[in-house]
Amino acid sequence: MLYRIQTIQKKLPANTGALVISPQNRYYLTGFSSSEGYVLITPQQGVFLVDFRYFEAAKREVKTAQVEELTRLREQLPALLARFGIQTLLVESGYVSLASFAMLKGICQGVELPAQNALDEWLLSLRMVKDEEELGYIRQAQSITEHAFYKALDFIRPGVSEREIYNEILFDYYRQGAGGMAFETIVASGPHSSSPHASVSDRRVQAGDFITIDMGAKFNGYCSDMTRTVAVGHASEHMQRIYQTVLQAQLAALNVLSANKTGHEADAVARNIIDQAGYKGAFGHSLGHSVGLDIHEEPRLSPGYEKTLPAGVVITIEPGIYLAGDCGVRIEDMALLLENGCQNLTHVAKELLVLK
Ligand code: ZN
Ligand code: ZN
Repeated sequence: MLYRIQTIQKKLPANTGALVISPQNRYYLTGFSSSEGYVLITPQQGVFLVDFRYFEAAKREVKTAQVEELTRLREQLPALLARFGIQTLLVESGYVSLASFAMLKGICQGVELPAQNALDEWLLSLRMVKDEEELGYIRQAQSITEHAFYKALDFIRPGVSEREIYNEILFDYYRQGAGGMAFETIVASGPHSSSPHASVSDRRVQAGDFITIDMGAKFNGYCSDMTRTVAVGHASEHMQRIYQTVLQAQLAALNVLSANKTGHEADAVARNIIDQAGYKGAFGHSLGHSVGLDIHEEPRLSPGYEKTLPAGVVITIEPGIYLAGDCGVRIEDMALLLENGCQNLTHVAKELLVLK
């Protein structure tokens, strides 16, 4: 984990420091979760400032930075900057409010705080590529997700409500030691399945419904993400055709997905299959997004994403067809990008499942 701070140190110009503020990035650099705190990276070392509530545990657990108790930032930060000879401070801006930035500017008299700087970009490109430890947590999050999905399948029958299915999933996450949901679980039945991000309701499942379940647990801060659409009782020919089209698009995209390609290539493969099957316009979102500490990270699989994807990215492949007032299908896996291809991290079968 130390390489993360070291990578930033190597990029810092002389007499320049970096201040990391967001919970995700503080956790990424220290492995320590806290609601408040600061990581100051100087060319000489990293300093983790955290208040009394966390100080004892942080001192024991954090190995990547020197831990100091945060008491009065107004005095401590200028003193630290002076101690390390910092004349320019790069402040993380992606998650930080203008008010916090103005406050920092006010207390760091005599130090330059450029409003635009490369720190966010450095953090972003570091976080894109997952190391073995991160992959282990993502795999564990996915294994919890799959266990909860099978539990939900056992539970689904005509008459149970979307909310009851949602509760079963959530309960199983916690029973397995998850940190919670990676995002708000979607259970969309019948006509609700045509809204890609439908909110859970009290609607009761009926025979002949599609149910789209988009779910992911969190483990040690890391997210997982998977969607399956299942039918209840029976699936009409119309439903089967939609399902098979989405499945074909998803498999084709997985087949071409690889590092060293642009984000739009896999998207185009899936989109063409859906368009050519007569569903043009019914796949109204992009094919996928990266997953890590945040559920939506860079890079993306979308029509406008022209950058090349690096190996080591964990990304979703989630085509869908949504017919307003009728029904919808989405199938989503999470895969690890390799130099030549990808490794699917999702193990749940994808053939149309009709729950009897
Ligand atoms: Zn999802
Ligand atoms: Zn997703």
